[in-house]
Amino acid sequence: MAGMLYLVPTPIGNLGDISQRCRETLENADFIAAEDTRVSLKLLNHLEIKKTLVSYYEHNRAESGPKILERILAGETCALVSDAGSPAISDPGEDLVALCAKNGVTVSAIPGPCAAITALSISGLPTGRFTFEGFLSTNKKSRLDHLNSLAGEQRTMIFYEAPHKLKNTLQDLLAAFGPDRRISLCRELTKLHEEVIRTTLQGAADYYEAQDPRGEYVLVLEGAAPSAEPETTLEDALALVAEKVAQGLSRKDAVKQAAKETGFPKNALYEASLRDE
Ligand code: SAM
Repeated sequence: MAGMLYLVPTPIGNLGDISQRCRETLENADFIAAEDTRVSLKLLNHLEIKKTLVSYYEHNRAESGPKILERILAGETCALVSDAGSPAISDPGEDLVALCAKNGVTVSAIPGPCAAITALSISGLPTGRFTFEGFLSTNKKSRLDHLNSLAGEQRTMIFYEAPHKLKNTLQDLLAAFGPDRRISLCRELTKLHEEVIRTTLQGAADYYEAQDPRGEYVLVLEGAAPSAEPETTLEDALALVAEKVAQGLSRKDAVKQAAKETGFPKNALYEASLRDE
């Protein structure tokens, strides 16, 4: 009989957040697949669990995934852990889950710590509808494309960010969403220096002019206010671009005018018009 894959969330700071069920699953698994075996070994030592660890991370998942699958198909139970939080959420695991699902293996996720949800819940921003955006790319163009694609997003947006990139990211967010958009910077969640700074993008940029960001951050950004105007769809805006091009305008000028008339961000509209060809 085939074994199973368990996704086991681990604390994002406070070791007290490991649940009884996570502990039991780690104890009962035949082996544990870990993002960084040294990090997970510390947790296992703390829990007084002795178990075989295999490595499964970003750069070995293509080779390690099939080996783990083979063991599960042979009847073993695997518990997957990442360095902190919920496996598969901006962490290795997504591909292993897909591989197991494709091969008919039962995958069970144990609920537990996740920085995104912890931050959203204390952000003070609307939680009814939200989008998880993960990390912004380090590539300037991809990052700006990503932000442009969120220009009209009305749902609350959640981003992960590393402290050394925070100042730049705040500048990019400021340029994309304007100074008055509310943001909650959730820092060092569940740890001794947990802090939530609820401010605006301008307020956040000013605050970090004076000091360097420290620790781990989740950024929770307010969505766009619903527009009172009837909404123009991307298709409408692209049709307008096509109309202007047919009238003899260059694509660049057509996009510029259509962006002005519809309120769509110029760059996003330009990219979409290229794809639309
Ligand atoms: N899988 C994890 C989860 O469920 O949240 C996320 C892993 S991702 C590689 C790491 C990022 O999560 C960090 O760069 C930071 O943005 C966020 N993060 C993790 N722990 C955090 C904490 N204690 N406080 C604030 N943000 C945290």
